[in-house]
Amino acid sequence: MTGERSEAARLPSRTLSVAQRLREYRGHRVPFSVEFNPPRDAAGESRLWRAVREFERLHPAFVSMTYGAGGSTKDRTVRITGELAAETTLLPVAHLTAVGHSIAELRSLIGSYADSGIHNLLVLRGDPPGDPLGEWRKHPDGVEYAEELVRIVRDLGDFHVGVASFPQGHHRSPDLDHDTRHLAAKLRAGAEYSITQMFFDVEHYLRLRDRIVGMDPAEGAKPIIPELMPITSLRTVQRAEELCGRALPAAVLARLRRAAGTGPREDTAAVRAEGIQIATEIAQRLIDEGAPCLHFITLNFAKATSEVLTNLGYASRTPAVA
Ligand SMILES: Cc1cc2nc3c(=O)[nH]c(=O)nc-3n(C[C@H](O)[C@H](O)[C@H](O)COP(=O)(O)OP(=O)(O)OC[C@H]3O[C@@H](n4cnc5c(N)ncnc54)[C@H](O)[C@@H]3O)c2cc1C
Repeated sequence: MTGERSEAARLPSRTLSVAQRLREYRGHRVPFSVEFNPPRDAAGESRLWRAVREFERLHPAFVSMTYGAGGSTKDRTVRITGELAAETTLLPVAHLTAVGHSIAELRSLIGSYADSGIHNLLVLRGDPPGDPLGEWRKHPDGVEYAEELVRIVRDLGDFHVGVASFPQGHHRSPDLDHDTRHLAAKLRAGAEYSITQMFFDVEHYLRLRDRIVGMDPAEGAKPIIPELMPITSLRTVQRAEELCGRALPAAVLARLRRAAGTGPREDTAAVRAEGIQIATEIAQRLIDEGAPCLHFITLNFAKATSEVLTNLGYASRTPAVA
């Protein structure tokens, strides 16, 4: 077989589901995946494509593209995710949020994804635009919960669906039991896996896994993909806290602040090295605990995630599965 042919044989089929793709890795190293955001302008788009090409050489199991609150990035998300499907070797997953859309608009959006060759959707409710913690108001002709959108997507045909899960509970859930019950309902409605909100304490992930298995063993057997982000500066701490929906654990903050030093200027190189080290330790623990995949928030940069992967021994540019 020529090198070219063997490379083509490794390409994931566009209609492959994320869950099937993860099954291909059984018995091999734990796969990784990455999250991108729709860029704001041409410079951002060039940066995104540099990151895409860099990750492509590292063979992620899949890549996901977020969707701006209330449809603010609709056209860019659809166009760029379509380009990922058409012009790269990657398996793309498009995020789809219900907030601000009627069911008719959601159906049309789902149709645009299908037309662009995208068959994997991460189905979410979304947060109120402008203030994620503000009052949730359903679109008058829309859906109340992600579970309903999972059913709509599944009814429309050839789509594979993932949903969000929350190791520390969703911020609107009164308690963890309520939160787990509704996660189980989304999985039962047809979702094949979940991706968690980012966290820095692996215990929260392990407890979520125990809760869902305890509540519904069949749904609990579906992959729960943990989300991570290497912190690269004290400035990204705030972004990380927004994405976690919680303050960072005191021990993590203390490590980053110690690395920053006591001088008038932050020791940026030391903070970055400590952030990469913290992400490496979390990732290693997740691998040891049998996580099905490591999903990295990249903010459209490849370097920090690549460094964590190198620390984990993933430096090889050959795929884990042939
Ligand atoms: C991995 C990941 C990716 C994300 N990507 C994006 C993105 O691209 N764009 C974006 O805008 N946001 C994104 N988000 C944020 C997400 O949209 C918000 O966290 C949102 O608040 C929750 O979405 P959900 O799909 O979990 O909602 P739901 O599953 O609908 O849950 C919302 C709340 O309602 C409760 N609930 C659910 N069903 C019921 C019911 N039947 N009765 C009573 N209560 C119920 C849940 O417990 C929860 O408290 C992402 C989140 C994660 C974890």
